[in-house]
Amino acid sequence: MMNSRSESFRLGLIGWPLVHSLSPLMHNAALKAAGLPGEYRLYPVQPLPEGEASLRDLLGEMKVGSIQGLNVTIPHKQNILNLVDLLSPAANAIGAVNTISVQNGLLTGDNTDWLGFLSDLDNQLPDSNSEKINRAVVLGAGGSARAVVYALQQIGWQVNISARRLEQSEKLATDFSSVGHPVSAWPLSQYAELSETTLIVNTTPVGMFPDTTSSPWPADLPFPKQAFLYDLIYNPIETALMKSARSAGLSAANGLGMLAEQAALAFEIWTGKPAPREIFRQAAVERTVL
Ligand code: NAP
Repeated sequence: MMNSRSESFRLGLIGWPLVHSLSPLMHNAALKAAGLPGEYRLYPVQPLPEGEASLRDLLGEMKVGSIQGLNVTIPHKQNILNLVDLLSPAANAIGAVNTISVQNGLLTGDNTDWLGFLSDLDNQLPDSNSEKINRAVVLGAGGSARAVVYALQQIGWQVNISARRLEQSEKLATDFSSVGHPVSAWPLSQYAELSETTLIVNTTPVGMFPDTTSSPWPADLPFPKQAFLYDLIYNPIETALMKSARSAGLSAANGLGMLAEQAALAFEIWTGKPAPREIFRQAAVERTVL
């Protein structure tokens, strides 16, 4: 929350190279709509070890109250884990920080990606929280897959991770199985419960602009008929994967809702005020390549 020494919010995003980030657009529009003075800007910080001094300087500025909030993206989401004073349970379990806040000179690392995904999933798929057995397949096993698996575990889903490197899927499955519902790691072609799968989540960058004709789903593999497809990619608005799933009769959503929601949650952590959610979403949609 705003420090008594500051008169306006200084917020921003740490990452590299930060060329296409929609975060300043969303947050600056939201600050304006909420009537809060301040600015959200980009802080390009090179990968470690080159960027270490800049990273520490920015965190130092937060500790003395001259910056009130920072988001963190690739390649620093893991680097921050050891540089803050406290971690939220989610950031600790996911192993990545995307939001840093400060209170009384202490920095807290949080992760709003998982709840951003879950909130939007709930909008798209209203019975995602129901008691029935829900099975999900997560494509990819990188940073956002960890947030998605954590989120699905919180609402009791059975999750299978299918990534191109089996050892990476197995590592993720082992990490999460030790803290919650068991997670499996079968390649798509060997996953016996595929036909009972009710949610497919793409967490790979396959199909993202400019490579918009690629899809992470094998062309010769039928989609499970009753599944919903959630693609974390939001540029383009409709990926090749979404297009083929819709042609097969599935419903599908892109990652814009998650993007807007994770940003809105960070805004609420920093300002202590309800986020103007529609402003976040509009700002993101307006700048996205169709
Ligand atoms: P990441 O940590 O680099 O993980 C990417 C995963 O995809 C890895 O498992 C990687 O496998 C796999 N992958 C990469 N290229 C592949 C290919 N050609 N075929 C099959 N698998 C491939 O990236 P991330 O941070 O999770 O981000 C992934 C995507 O999610 C990006 O498009 C990003 O924009 C999007 N995202 C969206 C939101 C949102 O709010 N909507 C939030 C976060 C991320 P290897 O390890 O083998 O390379």
